[in-house]
Amino acid sequence: MKKFAMLLAALLLMMTVFAACGESKDAASGASQPGGAASSSEAAGEESAQPADTGDGDNTLVMATNAFFEPYEYYEGDDIVGIDAEVGKAIADKLGMDFEISDVDFDAIIPNVQSGKASMGMAGMTVTEDRQKNVNFTRSYATAVQVVIVPEGSDIAAIDDMAGKKIGVQQGTTGDIYCSAPVEEDGFGEENVTRYNKGTDAVMALLSGKVDCVVIDNEPAKAFVAANEGLKILDTAYAEEEYAICIAKDNEELLEKVDTALGELIDDGTVQKIVDKYITAE
Ligand code: GLN
Repeated sequence: MKKFAMLLAALLLMMTVFAACGESKDAASGASQPGGAASSSEAAGEESAQPADTGDGDNTLVMATNAFFEPYEYYEGDDIVGIDAEVGKAIADKLGMDFEISDVDFDAIIPNVQSGKASMGMAGMTVTEDRQKNVNFTRSYATAVQVVIVPEGSDIAAIDDMAGKKIGVQQGTTGDIYCSAPVEEDGFGEENVTRYNKGTDAVMALLSGKVDCVVIDNEPAKAFVAANEGLKILDTAYAEEEYAICIAKDNEELLEKVDTALGELIDDGTVQKIVDKYITAE
């Protein structure tokens, strides 16, 4: 499994300013979100996206996200809040643009960006080589690791123990990609992986015993564990990742603008201030 981790790390290190991938799909919903409120509904890319603009037409910066990923994006009542929501708004402000969030399935984000339904995708999205084939990425604004959530008392104590177990993931995420890889490629085999539309749904499946563990990014994992009794995060984390904003390949002008604005917000401490509001240092 060390080989697995190293391979992933190497893979993920290869991020520059360009990226992507595509596809789409749907599924069920329903679960206990960490933040509270709102179940799915406006999700599912197809319905939710407005004719949108790409940032170069009218003056609205439309951010596609999947708002079940606390503390990066989640519902507070009817509002979508979180680190990405605030940094996205700060970027729009800097660019003198209006700001709108479009909540879609995670794996509909890149297609929404590619088709111009959204100006950019910002969703705790990891820069990967595959995604870079379909969209461009800005500089990174956060790092993350993939972690494993198990029920307290689980016999899974380390990543190697996951072999042959039922693994829950969020469809189309890096956790899905790593775990679904064949065993020879240091994954756990597609047949052992169940994909859910939202991390929330994967955690519900864990709570009801449908899966034995859930692989997801560390910060949402903490939020899920805090919001649901009887769960814990394994000490072993793996696959270090970088989050960035994705923008359509054919919109280099917007990429440049958003990347510059993001850089300024990182340099002047705004991004850190927003992060500190949502993530308390351990
Ligand atoms: N960081 C993971 C990915 O990019 C998960 C993101 C998410 O679920 N919002 O695949």
